[in-house]
Amino acid sequence: MTTAPQTPPSGEPESTRPGNFLRQIIEHDLGAGAYAQRLWGGSPGDGAHHQQSGARDPARIRTRFPPEPNGHLHVGHAKSICLNFGLARDYGGVCHMRFDDTNPEKEEQQYVDSILEAVRWLGFSWDSHFGGKTESHLYYASDYFDFMYRAAEYLITAGHAYVDEQTPEQMRANRGDFNTPGTNSPYRNRAPQENLARFRQMRDGQLPDGAAVLRARIDMASGNINMRDPAIYRIKRATHHNTGDKWCIYPMYTFAHPIEDALEQITHSICTLEFEDQRPFYDWLIARLIEGGLILPPPPRQYEFARLNLTYVITSKRKLAQLVAENHVSGWDDPRMPTIHGLRRRGYTPASLQLFAERIGVTKTDSWIDYSVLEGCLREDLENKAHRGMAVLDPVKLVLTNWAEIFGDASYTEECTQPALPHGAIAPGQGEPPARTFKIGAQVWIERQDFAETPPKGYKRLYPGNLVRLKGGYVIECTGCAKDASGNLTEVHAKVIPDTKSGTPGADSVKAKAAITWVSLASGISAQVRLYERLFTDPNPDAGGKNFLQALNPDSLKTVTAYVEPSLAQARPDEKFQFERHGYFVADRIDHTPGKPVFNRITGLKDSWGK
Ligand code: ATP
Ligand code: MG
Repeated sequence: MTTAPQTPPSGEPESTRPGNFLRQIIEHDLGAGAYAQRLWGGSPGDGAHHQQSGARDPARIRTRFPPEPNGHLHVGHAKSICLNFGLARDYGGVCHMRFDDTNPEKEEQQYVDSILEAVRWLGFSWDSHFGGKTESHLYYASDYFDFMYRAAEYLITAGHAYVDEQTPEQMRANRGDFNTPGTNSPYRNRAPQENLARFRQMRDGQLPDGAAVLRARIDMASGNINMRDPAIYRIKRATHHNTGDKWCIYPMYTFAHPIEDALEQITHSICTLEFEDQRPFYDWLIARLIEGGLILPPPPRQYEFARLNLTYVITSKRKLAQLVAENHVSGWDDPRMPTIHGLRRRGYTPASLQLFAERIGVTKTDSWIDYSVLEGCLREDLENKAHRGMAVLDPVKLVLTNWAEIFGDASYTEECTQPALPHGAIAPGQGEPPARTFKIGAQVWIERQDFAETPPKGYKRLYPGNLVRLKGGYVIECTGCAKDASGNLTEVHAKVIPDTKSGTPGADSVKAKAAITWVSLASGISAQVRLYERLFTDPNPDAGGKNFLQALNPDSLKTVTAYVEPSLAQARPDEKFQFERHGYFVADRIDHTPGKPVFNRITGLKDSWGK
C-alpha cells in the first residue's frame, strides 16, 4: 500500500519542543521585553475602557484558541490547542479560550459546550493564576460587537471606510483579479458624514439584507486582493446565539478577528497559513485603530503555521457532518471519527495527543503526517501505563486431554499469576509491578490462528507434536484436533506437561517454541470487542475531486464476541489495556459495564496497516 508523502517520517521529529520557530519568536520577544510596557486589564468586556484601565503586568505572552462554535473539534484543532495552550503554559503566559462567534447563522450552544469539554479533556485550562489571583479567560467575540461597531464608525469618520451600495455582482467584477487591478466603486468618495448616516441606517434595519456593505477604504489596485477595500460589515437579519436580535449587521471575520486579539491584548496570534494573505489587513486595521486611540500599542502580531494534514483522515467540518448525517458512522463521537470526542472514545489519551502535537512540530510549509505517527504516540503513552491482560478474539476451544489424569479431577483449576505491567514500567526501587490472577483448567480458549493442522514453514505455535507454553500457565504438547461434519475446526487437543508452570522451578525443564495467549473456560468472561480500522482505505480520500465516500473502508468496524480474563471484565469505563499480542484496547466509555464488558481496539501493537 502506498502512503501519501510523509513529513516527517515517523519517529523523526521535524521540530522538537525546544526548536520550533514560534518558540524562537517568543523567546526573542520576551528577551527584548516586548510586552513589558503593555497595560493589562481584567476581562476585556467593553474593550477600550478595559484596555486603558489595566494595571501593569510583567512581560507575559498571551495566545488564544479561537474556534467558531459551528461544529465539533477535530485532530487538527487538537494541534492548534496544544500549540496555543502549550506555548502559554511553557512561557508562563495565558491562553485565552475565545469563541469566534461573529457569524450568526451556524453557531450553536451545543458546539460551545462540546468545544469546552474537548479543550478541558485535552488537559488545558483558560484560567490564569497570577499574583495569587485566579482569573478565567473565556471570551466570546460577540461580546465585542459594541466596540466593533464603534471601531467601524471611527474608520468612517476618519475616511478609512465607506458604505458601498454596488450589487454583489458589480463588487465582484470591480475587484479585479491577480492580473488586473480593481476599479473604484462609485460610492468610494462619499463624504464621511454621509457614510456615517448610511451605516447607521444599515444598523437600524432600514436597508434590506445585501443592499449595502461597509468597506475599508484601502487600495483597489493593491497586489494583494485582500487589501482591495475588503468588506467589514454586512447586513444579515439572523438571530445570534448570544446577542439575539440586537443586531442586523454583523462584522466580517477579517475585521473582527484583529479587534478581538487587540482587546484581549493577545501578543502572539497564531493561525494557519491560509491567513497569511490577510496579515496586511490585520496590521492595517490595528494601525488605524491605534491612530484613532481606540486601541493601545503594542499591537498584537499574527503568525502563521501549517495546518495538520493527516493521512486517512478527513477534517472538513462539512464532510464530517455528512458522515454523521448519512449514518456512515454512529455519531460525532464514533471511535472512527477524527473528532476529539471520537478519538477520546477510541481510547486516545490527552497525553498521546499532546505528544503527537509536539512530535509533528510546527512548520511554515504544508505537509502530510502519516496516520501511523498518531498511533505510535498512543503506544508510547500506554506502553508503561496500560495494564496487560489476555483476551481471545477469535476463540476455539483447547482441551487438555490428560488434565484429569494429572490432577485427579477434570474440574480441578489452578491459579496463575502474571504481572499487570512489564518489569521496565516500574522504576528501580519502586517495588514490584501489580499482579493479576486468573485460573487454568482442563479447557481453555485459544486463538483459532494459533493452531495449524499442517503448519506452514516457520510456524511455531500449535500443531500436532509441537510444544507450546500457555502464557503464565503450563507447557503443552499438541496432539490433534476435532472437526465438525463440514471440516471446520471445533477443538484443539493437547496434553499438559506436568511441573512446567510459569514461575515454578520446573518452568524451564522443557523448551517450548512459542507462548500463546489464552483464557480458561473456568474464569474467562465473554465480552464484546469492537475491532476498529481506519475509516478510509485511501490515504488521501479528499484530494483531487475524489468522492471521499467511495474511499470508506468497508472493514472499519468488525464486532466480535471474545473471552477476556477476569481482571479485564472489572475495567472501569475508559480504562485502557494492552491485550497481549493484540494491541491496545479501551473499555468503551459509554457502553461498557462490568456486567456487559465492551472494548474498543485503539490500535495494534505495531504498525501493520496494509501488511
Ligand atoms: P471553518 O472552515 O469553519 O473556519 P476551521 O477548521 O478553521 O473551520 P475554526 O473553528 O475556525 O475551524 O478553527 C479554530 C482554530 O483551529 C483556528 O485557529 C484554525 O486555524 C485551527 N485549525 C483548524 N483546523 C486545523 C488544522 N487542520 N490544523 C491546525 N489547526 C487547525
Ligand atoms: Mg476557521
